[in-house]
Amino acid sequence: MVPKLDRRQFVAGAAAGLAAAAPGSAFGRAPAIRTSRTVSPVVIASGNGHRYTNGGTRTCVETAFRLMTSGTDVLDALIAGVNIVELDPEDASVGYGGRPNADGVVQLDACCMHGPKRRAGGVAALEGVRTPSSVAQKVADLTDHHLLVGAGAQRFARQLGFAIEDDLNTDRSRRMWLEWKRRTDPGHYLDPDRTEAGGDAAARGRDVDNAMLADGVITEEELYGTINCNGVNAAGEICGVTTTSGLAWKIPGRVGDSPILGAGLYVDNSVGAAGSTGRGEANLYNLASFLIVERMRAGMHPKDAGMEALRRVQANTVEARLLNSRGLPAFGLTFYILDAEGRHAGVSMYAGETSRYAVCTENGGELLPLEPLLDGSPRD
Ligand code: ASP
Repeated sequence: MVPKLDRRQFVAGAAAGLAAAAPGSAFGRAPAIRTSRTVSPVVIASGNGHRYTNGGTRTCVETAFRLMTSGTDVLDALIAGVNIVELDPEDASVGYGGRPNADGVVQLDACCMHGPKRRAGGVAALEGVRTPSSVAQKVADLTDHHLLVGAGAQRFARQLGFAIEDDLNTDRSRRMWLEWKRRTDPGHYLDPDRTEAGGDAAARGRDVDNAMLADGVITEEELYGTINCNGVNAAGEICGVTTTSGLAWKIPGRVGDSPILGAGLYVDNSVGAAGSTGRGEANLYNLASFLIVERMRAGMHPKDAGMEALRRVQANTVEARLLNSRGLPAFGLTFYILDAEGRHAGVSMYAGETSRYAVCTENGGELLPLEPLLDGSPRD
């Protein structure tokens, strides 16, 4: 489902094309001074950015790249891309069909940053809107604020004409929530097939997630899960967006790193962009996306800047409940990083089976390996 270019976008694209084609000396004038850099356009995203198409033919990164290189504003292009994942019920971590909270309600977080316009917007704990990234963009474009939450965010969306739905669960996300309820509260949510031993195991707090992972009820990616997508066009304009249903079964009202500027996303048009997926609390404590962009500002390559952020997170992880048997962080955290030259990297606390990040260039979309900081798995 590739959104058609609207008239404004078409005209903007055409104007850009004309400007590029205009012979500088045809009227005896000096060639225009280039005020912006020229880079090879690229869009990067978390792995789900090249996995889902919502029944269409193009993934998020392919769609965003195609629009961006046809003259569409970079952020408009990225939002059109992540909308595909938000709307696709198959992605159980973002938008419609995302993971519900402990009450069984899907609460969504998102933010976006427009590098050239120095504009940002976000929403948190938003219920009933399938595409929170689009609401976040409206916060950036139409208000003086940066972040709207809960009922206020929903009222804002309603006023702008977004459809508000009673329930964003799919049958699948509801089934998963019920399974989680059965395992965490076996005394009230009965499962005729489950033995008492299973019930005991379910009562052991964090082990519930491990058990559900081990039983194949939920994947590591679904337990967390988010899409971050960043792009730079040929004129060096950089934007980014992050959107999520957040941590599965979270306490209602919990907001993670995704909608927080500097944590789930940070863009500086002269430097680059960084965004995240994974344990939001670990990222929030370290404001790692901001840290990464600042390290790139000081000259670091995206990969090195990302590794430094992961090391910072590891150093600040000291509570026993957050450490595995090797004394290492017992969670996953990944950063997707792009610099102003179009160089990019995906770095992760651990390499996992689904450890890939999505990239689209003029050669098309692909999944590339993430660079892990640590060996083994968070659960070893
Ligand atoms: N970072 C998100 C959060 O903590 C979740 C995720 O990426 O899986 O809300």
